[in-house]
Amino acid sequence: MTFSTDFSYETRPVRVVFRPGASVTATPDEAERLGLRRLLVVCGSQGESVARTVADALGDSCAGVHAEARMHVPVEVAHRAVEVARAAGADGCVAVGGGSAIGLGKAIALRTGLPLIAVPSTYSGSEMTPVWGLTDHGVKRTGRDPVVQPRSVVYDPELTLSLPVPLTVTSGVNALAHAVEALYAPDTSPLVSLMAEDGVRAMAEALPLLVADPDDLEARSRALYGAWLCGTCLGATTMGLHHKLCHVLGGTFGLPHAETHTVVLPYALAYNAPAAPGAVTAVRRALGAEDAPRALWELAGGLGAPRSLRELGLKKSDLPTAAAQVTGEPYANPRPVAAHGVLGVLTAAYEGREPESAEAPQ
Ligand code: NAD
Repeated sequence: MTFSTDFSYETRPVRVVFRPGASVTATPDEAERLGLRRLLVVCGSQGESVARTVADALGDSCAGVHAEARMHVPVEVAHRAVEVARAAGADGCVAVGGGSAIGLGKAIALRTGLPLIAVPSTYSGSEMTPVWGLTDHGVKRTGRDPVVQPRSVVYDPELTLSLPVPLTVTSGVNALAHAVEALYAPDTSPLVSLMAEDGVRAMAEALPLLVADPDDLEARSRALYGAWLCGTCLGATTMGLHHKLCHVLGGTFGLPHAETHTVVLPYALAYNAPAAPGAVTAVRRALGAEDAPRALWELAGGLGAPRSLRELGLKKSDLPTAAAQVTGEPYANPRPVAAHGVLGVLTAAYEGREPESAEAPQ
């Protein structure tokens, strides 16, 4: 393993509490630590009953429950939530749910500066990043702002017990994608590499156990621990080709977030592998496999996840448009992003065939 002696790493002030039952037992304490007395709880419509449990635990410190989070945070949804927060006289927010609920909490923080507590219920990792996203007329913009980074993150593995098995798998692979790209990011560091490798290991060990028994709380805890590490890697580094592909496929073609990450990851890694031997070695070690892209493909497909963009509803005629958008703007990637190469990655992902091993020799 080569050791980099040229890196920078920034630690951001976030408190993490991790414990089964913590959504109820720890969220009020986190609010008190932050001096917050009127918290608006935000969630999606499906997550409302869980969010109400958290709201009940907050007691008099809860200023209301706003259950209108939607995928990719449409601007009108964000505007409405800001109005509700202001009307309620909120001095902070608690986002309970997946990346969509946390995304709405971040949108409120971006506009109002209100501190955010995140109680994640998926493995998306948004809770550990200063990245916000807003969608206006079908175009998704993202940005980084420390004000949206949650001040406290309450990880409660019990909240994830209800995560359906298909979403457990795809959300888990979404987390793996953060770690994989962090390993070859231009701003990676030895600490990020440690977190990324253990994040991949924990998640890859937990997912088969969860498919066999979704109620296995120990495996749920292991997966959520992996999601924390992978999310931390996402927040600390700059993502490359894989995240750009998924951003375009989700933003322009409306493909579902976690499923798209799951389909694309093996092909993006196969493309980057020759230019990122250290990252490949770390993923291989974490998965206990010879061929990292193929092992990822086998892991997700073997657990019943979709394998092709075709299954997700993309049309073959969309591929050149998607490739042009992905190559349209420069971004960090270990291997130069050429148009024909991206089209090759997209075509392979569209078909869902076994990824070609293109790894660098040992
Ligand atoms: P999501 O939040 O949209 O949730 C998917 C579905 O699962 C929803 O219907 C939700 O109600 C349901 N759900 C969530 N938790 C559940 C649980 N425990 N039990 C049962 N059902 C549950 O999906 P996601 O994949 O978590 O997040 C995707 C969104 O987050 C995208 O918009 C993506 O762009 C964003 N995101 C942002 C960042 C960031 O750093 N800003 C990082 C990752 C993802």
